[in-house]
Amino acid sequence: PLSLCWLRRDLRLTDQAALHAALAASDRVLPVFIFDRAILDGLPRDDRRVDFLHRTLAALKAELNARGRDLLIRHAQASEAIPALAAEFGAQAVFVSRDYEPAAVARDQTVAARLEAAGIAFHGCKDQVIFERDEVLTASRQPFSVFTPYKNAWLKRLAPSHLLPYPSEQQLDRLLARPAEPMPTLAELGFEPTDLDALGIVAGPAGAAARLDDFLRRIDDYAEARDFPAVKGVSYLSVHLRFGTLSIRQAVTLAQQHAGPGAAAWLNELIWREFYQQILHHRPDVVGQAFKAEYRALAFPNNEEWFRAWCEGRTGYPIVDAAMRQLNHSGYMHNRLRMVTASFLVKDLLIDWRWGERYFAEKLIDYDLAANNGGWQWAASTGCDAQPYFRIFNPLTQSRRFDPEGKFIRRYVPELAGLATDDLHAPWLAKPVDRAAAGVRLGQDYPFPLVDHARQREAALALFKKG
Ligand code: FAD
Repeated sequence: PLSLCWLRRDLRLTDQAALHAALAASDRVLPVFIFDRAILDGLPRDDRRVDFLHRTLAALKAELNARGRDLLIRHAQASEAIPALAAEFGAQAVFVSRDYEPAAVARDQTVAARLEAAGIAFHGCKDQVIFERDEVLTASRQPFSVFTPYKNAWLKRLAPSHLLPYPSEQQLDRLLARPAEPMPTLAELGFEPTDLDALGIVAGPAGAAARLDDFLRRIDDYAEARDFPAVKGVSYLSVHLRFGTLSIRQAVTLAQQHAGPGAAAWLNELIWREFYQQILHHRPDVVGQAFKAEYRALAFPNNEEWFRAWCEGRTGYPIVDAAMRQLNHSGYMHNRLRMVTASFLVKDLLIDWRWGERYFAEKLIDYDLAANNGGWQWAASTGCDAQPYFRIFNPLTQSRRFDPEGKFIRRYVPELAGLATDDLHAPWLAKPVDRAAAGVRLGQDYPFPLVDHARQREAALALFKKG
């Protein structure tokens, strides 16, 4: 019997759960990928993620073609194309790695029902996380809503068996032998090539392996370096974890093998990733509304001018502007700055966190619904933060602390580069003579601050107090 293995966010051939399960259950397996019109039709033509996907799939396909095998790639509505392909190839089953986003769950239910009506089985496998859904629960079998106890339970539950790789790559010769079929070009999909090369982003498992190698040389410094955006301190693996070009089992195994505070801090972040994935599973209603019921009706004033200034990096707060320009330029933003800019949007500009969440979703190459929604609700104090709403980030303190030499600001806000570092964090506080010497005319070369942090802080407190 033949099975289809429908790839989605598990784009690799090594340690691949769905591929392994399909190969174990069937004589022959045909891997397929659908560029789903239901998702692609809403994206801008220069979306880097589509380019990243396209390059990744081309690499996987080339690897299979070299063995006389193929990866079938179509541009279609996945919920229709998968049942149609299964019927066309006389498949007995379709295997997938589970996706926990509500829209993906609904799509998979539709596909499963259509397949079952035709007598074809649909199997979901766990691939993108170590623990999924309700595998890590409290003692009273409730989902966790606070990170630290979740993390402790996660670590307690972890056994070597959870990290065993699936030897999918050892059985590729049992994939269906077929002549290679051409894949749709990026232009045929309706997209344009992007600047991934200029950004140094290498798609596919090879790109993941190179970044991993580079990071493992620096992992011991991670705990200290991770908070400083001007330093190469983090792994930059998020896009690969998002699309599954890196196996989470491999990542966790490496974190465990590297004893020390750097690796422990990195593992902590990988657990945050799973924390938000299980929140999304248990609370799909967080998409579009506050996790905490008492903050569902916050009356944000939502000044649209201010929102545009935030998006474009012209708030007058250099650390915020540098961060937003990094996002606009590269599709990536450092974690510390995601927290700073999100807090600034909500607590300083009093703009609905969902506006910022949507903007990040459009721009981030590593965009992941669970992590993005979780991060935004954390920053907005509407979500799973153990801290109450009156803990408000001070953008100036953050700037001085995490970009102490102003290197990051100078990189992205070059019009301020001539200022002394003290002044760089808050150009409106600089002596006019020093600004003049640095060639900075506020209101012309760089904006005055949109808001006064101390005043806005009071306004945010009042807004949240009212609920
Ligand atoms: P590293 O520091 O090397 O961390 C390793 C991996 O752990 C990351 O690749 C990521 O998969 C995971 N991770 C790290 N921090 C978090 C976190 N706080 N929550 C969940 N997973 C985490 N991450 C995304 O992958 N996609 C998003 O859309 C996203 N949106 C965010 C929005 C906001 C407002 C905030 C505050 C955070 C968001 N994050 C998101 C989390 C985090 O900022 C990124 O994962 C991280 O910056 C990616 O860089 P890295 O791979 O170098 O991370």
